[in-house]
Amino acid sequence: MHPHRSSTALTPPMSGTILNGKAVAQTLEVELAQQVASLRAQTGKSPGLAVIRVGDDPASAVYVRAKEQACGRVGIQSFGCHLPKDTSAADLVTKIDALNQDEQVHGILLQLPLPPQLDERALLYRIDPNKDVDGLHPENLGRLLRGEPGLQSCTPRGVMELLTAYDIPLAGRSAVVIGRSILVGKPLGLMLLAANATVTIAHSRSQNLGAIAAQADVLIAAVGRPKLITADMVKPQAVVVDVGINRYPRPDGKTSLVGDVDFEAVAPVASHITPVPGGVGPMTVAMLLHNTVWSFRYHEGLLETGK
Ligand code: NAD
Repeated sequence: MHPHRSSTALTPPMSGTILNGKAVAQTLEVELAQQVASLRAQTGKSPGLAVIRVGDDPASAVYVRAKEQACGRVGIQSFGCHLPKDTSAADLVTKIDALNQDEQVHGILLQLPLPPQLDERALLYRIDPNKDVDGLHPENLGRLLRGEPGLQSCTPRGVMELLTAYDIPLAGRSAVVIGRSILVGKPLGLMLLAANATVTIAHSRSQNLGAIAAQADVLIAAVGRPKLITADMVKPQAVVVDVGINRYPRPDGKTSLVGDVDFEAVAPVASHITPVPGGVGPMTVAMLLHNTVWSFRYHEGLLETGK
């Protein structure tokens, strides 16, 4: 993928270049729409994504709607599957098995979190690894660890594509990831390592977080704490990527969406920085679409070598 570069860079005065994930994601969507159209001409079929949502978590409803709308923009068929919050594990297994067999469905996404009676891990493991567009199946995590092609988790992949879009060099440079979740921090550490960065992963038990962060050429926060990253934790001219999504109270009683980085204070120190919203979030959705198209190619025997 080679999205446009310089045209997406908005540079406010006295501040680092904004890593405009929204614009890069839009460019990727245009490319994916073209790929989907030519795959349809070639095969007579369209890629299909099934998003399973259980219960009525309002944030999940917003995320699922955004994913389904994005599918519509690029010509991926979306098969919404909304189940009641008291759905049993057996019923959900039956649903997943049916989607695994369904030839119209190339990607399956189980929207998390699940209601407490459902075992997230067992259900994620039930998804066909070659339809696992969230990259959370152990077979896909194993492929990532081994450096083999396969479906990779959308948020860390989105971070990597954003860095690529802005030609941010990684080889030999110090990358610090704060956060070690299976969804973001750990896979991102592996991806940065595969790009030849020297990787440090910090977490809630790390001592001297400020000193660890301050040695990063590329600093990535994936924690879920507003303003955790302050200007004194950032090396001058570092690249700063903010994965966090937090609701932060405003003086008027409403809430704003903010990341983990104190953007106003850090932007003047950084060479590049992602905004929240409009940074990593749109890239995550674009990677979901990318993964669904990859999976379609896999199932149609049209995969070129590599990912
Ligand atoms: P998580 O809760 O699973 O993991 C948080 C990580 O942060 C843990 O590994 C923990 O060790 C670390 N941590 C917690 N407190 C810390 C502290 N004080 N200092 C250092 N490390 C600390 O969360 P997650 O699923 O990895 O998500 C992280 C953030 O990214 C959340 O805000 C989430 O909403 C956001 N997120 C955004 C996207 C996106 O598309 N932009 C996607 C997924 C997650």
